[in-house]
Amino acid sequence: MNAQNIDRNLAGQKVIIAGGGIGGAAGALALSLRGADVTLYERSREFKEVGAGLQIGPHGVKMLQKWGLKERALELGYLPERMQFRDAITREPILTMNFDEEFEEHYGSNYLVIHRSDLLSLLIEAAREAGTKLVNGTKVLGADTEPDRVVAELKNVDTGEITHDSADLLVAFDGIHSVFRKHLVTDEAVPSAYVAYRGTSDLPTDPEMSELKDVVGYIGPRCHFIQYPLRGGELLNQVAVFQSPRYLRALTDGTEVPEDWGNNDEFREAYGHTNEFIQGRLDQMWLDTWWQMSDRDPIDNWVVSDRIILMGDAAHPPLQYLASGAVMAMEDAECLALFASEAAEGGQLVWKDVLEEVSAERAPRCKRIQSTGRFWGELWHVDGLARLIRNEVFRQAESGWFKYVDWLWGYDAERREYLRNPEKGEMPAELKEWEYNLYRIARQARGSSASEPITI
Ligand SMILES: Cc1cc2nc3c(=O)[nH]c(=O)nc-3n(C[C@H](O)[C@H](O)[C@H](O)COP(=O)(O)OP(=O)(O)OC[C@H]3O[C@@H](n4cnc5c(N)ncnc54)[C@H](O)[C@@H]3O)c2cc1C
Repeated sequence: MNAQNIDRNLAGQKVIIAGGGIGGAAGALALSLRGADVTLYERSREFKEVGAGLQIGPHGVKMLQKWGLKERALELGYLPERMQFRDAITREPILTMNFDEEFEEHYGSNYLVIHRSDLLSLLIEAAREAGTKLVNGTKVLGADTEPDRVVAELKNVDTGEITHDSADLLVAFDGIHSVFRKHLVTDEAVPSAYVAYRGTSDLPTDPEMSELKDVVGYIGPRCHFIQYPLRGGELLNQVAVFQSPRYLRALTDGTEVPEDWGNNDEFREAYGHTNEFIQGRLDQMWLDTWWQMSDRDPIDNWVVSDRIILMGDAAHPPLQYLASGAVMAMEDAECLALFASEAAEGGQLVWKDVLEEVSAERAPRCKRIQSTGRFWGELWHVDGLARLIRNEVFRQAESGWFKYVDWLWGYDAERREYLRNPEKGEMPAELKEWEYNLYRIARQARGSSASEPITI
């Protein structure tokens, strides 16, 4: 491992991390590399990720590069040649984005796809090597902030025994149902009415797919279907996402939402309007689990106390359309470690100030990704005339698409661009009129607004 120009300025600082998903593992690594004494508590008995593939754009690969893990990640994953959007009804390509030399030069990195468990293991092992103490089977119940330390309350999930640990800082990477988020906001997760089915299968022996070298996204009315290779082309990753009619009906009628919305019966019905090719691929999907997809509204402040901060999905769970949830968590990790290290180098390490600076940089960035993710998903799923216009806009974007994604893929926390200009966190002015459909539907169902046209 060859981490880039990293000083061990945080030596002597003790840090507790709650949660050992990709975010917590990245946080442990970034802080340990700076010399901090890190203990990571994970409630599960082992470190594990559910699901299969993850897309890691150049904004994420740059983080892996800083931590000396890029080469290994590229060996474990796959570098797709292109990302291609196709219409899910006609199957015709509507936008192709080449991940070629120009792309690499423009963003200073690659576009990687990797198995979730491979990325998690890579980060966990690197954190261990960098000195992180890894503790499984221990749930962080909460923490008290004292003037000179934070004291975490811990529960052993097997014995029920309660113990305590103290540190200079606690970072809550404890996911969408974070116990620490409640101290900042009393919000609920927002179900999107969309559900994901996943599946992996052998790629080289698949007669239809063995030549696949791209990330391909078939986008269609009320559904989409994604395919890409994993593990050096040995594995095919497929994700089928569709809108659950039963969830939507319950929302519009104001009735109780069935717990199993998005179940196998709905899955079998969901792709009847799409191309035969897609329908033929669906028998590869796992049927025993499906993921009801939710996000949360953005929040402007992640600082829970002078010594506790939220990060990763605990702070900003997104919808998955911009493929940036795990990447944002890695960016959070590096931003925290970097800003703290810079403060320590100048002899000015006051955690309260560092946490405020990190939150002021990261919250607007993640707010923009969360809001744009909702918009981007709705654009994928439009029907009728809107679909035809969307396809034409995509075709026209092909000759110059960098300008639409530079804000996302060209980011580097070192530049402190959101601190300098928090306005960057807002949706672009042209989209100011746009409102998340689910909110509009809920308003109408409550009778608090007149009927407005809704595209779903
Ligand atoms: C269908 C789908 C596709 C996606 N695709 C992409 C993609 O292509 N690219 C991308 O970047 N992102 C993607 N994402 C998003 C990404 O998976 C998440 O944003 C990311 O994994 C969040 O990581 P995290 O570590 O913050 O949270 P989590 O992964 O939720 O990890 C939280 C961890 O904390 C543990 N924990 C919880 N509470 C406690 C506690 N009290 N004490 C101790 N431990 C605790 C949990 O057991 C868990 O291990 C996708 C998401 C979905 C649903």
